[in-house]
Amino acid sequence: MAEDITFDKTFDLEPGRAEEVVPGVRRIVANNPGPFTFKGTLSYVLGKGKVAIVDPGPDDPEHIKAVLDAVRGETVTHIFVTHTHRDHSPATPAIKAATGATVYAEGPHRPSRPLNEGEAPRMEASNDIDFRPDHALADGDVVSGDGWALEAVTTPGHTANHMAFAIKGSDVMFSGDHVMGWSTTIVAPPDGAMTDYMASLGKLAKRKEQVYLPGHGGAIREATRFVAGLTLHRKAREASILHRLGKGATDIATIVRAIYIGLDPRLTNAAGFSVLAHMEDLVARGEVATDGLPSINGVYRLARA
Ligand SMILES: [Zn+2]
Repeated sequence: MAEDITFDKTFDLEPGRAEEVVPGVRRIVANNPGPFTFKGTLSYVLGKGKVAIVDPGPDDPEHIKAVLDAVRGETVTHIFVTHTHRDHSPATPAIKAATGATVYAEGPHRPSRPLNEGEAPRMEASNDIDFRPDHALADGDVVSGDGWALEAVTTPGHTANHMAFAIKGSDVMFSGDHVMGWSTTIVAPPDGAMTDYMASLGKLAKRKEQVYLPGHGGAIREATRFVAGLTLHRKAREASILHRLGKGATDIATIVRAIYIGLDPRLTNAAGFSVLAHMEDLVARGEVATDGLPSINGVYRLARA
């Protein structure tokens, strides 16, 4: 399989300490490492004096204290949220209460498509369904603060409400969980959607920013090249799925065993949903067929076999 991408597994910031990552942006990592969160979720502080916080983080008192300590003596005027997973947004009410800042995001959590009969939001435990922004942002909206301005860039796929934020007049974008340097992104229906995710990669491929500050792990420095690598990576995975289906109709569990060699066992379930995300996309494009709606237990075959 062509793997035209290298993931950066180095990251050594200790939890609770604020560190400048690019001029004018500080980051603080929450103490929530794991197979989905790498070394922990990153909260960012943009500006100096009158600042914005991007992704307050999980509802963890120590992390909330660390973020508030990092901005002691400053005024937090804005809070931006990239998406409503429980490791990114639940600290928002506490930080808003402590600072009086206004909260900006795309909107509340929602699935990427209507739920199928009998289907639960898979990542219900992962979702912050209580989150509501003070101001809902649309694609291209610009929010200005003291010495900075952020452009909202809708990037659905990881979640339906995922939003990246580009720092106007700079080369830097907060990429949330849409593009991360340490790993591919989880795209798991019904909260995520592969068709949306690939379109969002295509959208970023056309933008000029070259430094991405993700929700987990280190900064990405050659972003256009990296996004091209991620796109190729997904196309290669899709080719593997089609190759396996070329040998005959089969189910998702069999495909996961065939194409995810050496997978961390804790990620087997997520890999299954990632393949389901590809199946939804392939069925919508008329490449693959299944009986009824695509589902995690369905049997899939090439549509043009
Ligand atoms: Zn996420």
